[in-house]
Amino acid sequence: MSKIVIVDKEYIFQASSFSTDLTDAEKKKVEWAWKKEEGQIQYFEKQGFIDDNGIVSKNISFDKSLAGETVYVMPFLKEPDPSISIIVEVEKVNIIFLTFDDGIQEGTEEVLKILKEEGVKGTFFLTGVHSYFSYDTDKKKTLAALKEIYENHAIGNHSYSHANYFYTSYYRKGGVLKDNQNNRRSVKDDFIKNKDLIKKYIKEIDKSYSNDLMLAKNQTIPLARFPGTNTWFVDENLKDIKSTSRGRTFEFAQKDSKEEAEELFKLGYKIFGWDIEWHMTFDLAGVTRNKILENDKVDYSDDEQAHPDHIDLYSEEHIEKDRLTDSWKTVKEEVLDFAHHSSLQLFDDNSKREKKVVLLMHERAFRNRSDNNAVESEKLRSLIKELKKLGAKFRTLENY
Ligand SMILES: [Zn+2]
Repeated sequence: MSKIVIVDKEYIFQASSFSTDLTDAEKKKVEWAWKKEEGQIQYFEKQGFIDDNGIVSKNISFDKSLAGETVYVMPFLKEPDPSISIIVEVEKVNIIFLTFDDGIQEGTEEVLKILKEEGVKGTFFLTGVHSYFSYDTDKKKTLAALKEIYENHAIGNHSYSHANYFYTSYYRKGGVLKDNQNNRRSVKDDFIKNKDLIKKYIKEIDKSYSNDLMLAKNQTIPLARFPGTNTWFVDENLKDIKSTSRGRTFEFAQKDSKEEAEELFKLGYKIFGWDIEWHMTFDLAGVTRNKILENDKVDYSDDEQAHPDHIDLYSEEHIEKDRLTDSWKTVKEEVLDFAHHSSLQLFDDNSKREKKVVLLMHERAFRNRSDNNAVESEKLRSLIKELKKLGAKFRTLENY
């Protein structure tokens, strides 16, 4: 069995499925080779290895001179042995995009520490309300987190208001309430307002920053994610797709955010939804919504002061709120499942065929417990370590 790959990309192939229960010694008889479409078979110098799960892996890189060519990669038996028949399933590496929403907030620091220690990059979709609250509460800590994101990860725009958690009215009525006369700040202006705020903070950590966009240091493409809806508009071939999140579709919400997505795309943003979500409870959204509904006297004219997120949602009272409901093992299975189905081209759009998985998470779910126990962020480390073992590569969404 062979598999077509694009040469200028980096892949790991796995021979993961055998027709018989081979012993370890037998599995070691598997070798790897490759050839160009019309060319001779060539052998890799270093062969694969067998890991603890009995998976034969091969890290493959090609000479740059082959860039753009199609090559076939084949695993086969070193010495032909009729008593052993192997069926080898060759799969491309999973490229995982770790994405974190609603920062800068409690938990951002914990997540950044894990990513740094594991040497992987993520994309942080920042919101104005959360960042402003964080900055106002602890300026030093907030700017340190932003600096780490700015220098080592990618930054995305996730709106200023997060729709105040009233998503339907945000998309249907054209933005978020900005005063008591029912005037609204449009979705587009809400993203611009966020951009201006984050840009202001970036300038505090890099005085030479002169870009009008909100970008990390080495980032060139602005990224955005809509609050509360799984909307995609990456390019003309990847827009308005149905969500593939466990068979649930978000057409209803997508329809509502379509015009806004067009507007942001015109401003240069690539808009990303997600494939898999590391589920958590959303208690704090409810707390926020209730505060708004209870309080007739909200002064929307000063939205930083008036925004319910200015209430400390991370106080002792709320410390157990917004916590993970999926185990890291569940998330791992879902990521592999999604990658597998995308490789079989089961989705109705072309873009999902390259085994790319966008994983949505929220930093606050990983924040320390009240006893400062770091167990929550260790779950993120466990997932990353396990996916690494399976050959996953981690990229920022700029490189989708
Ligand atoms: Zn969000």
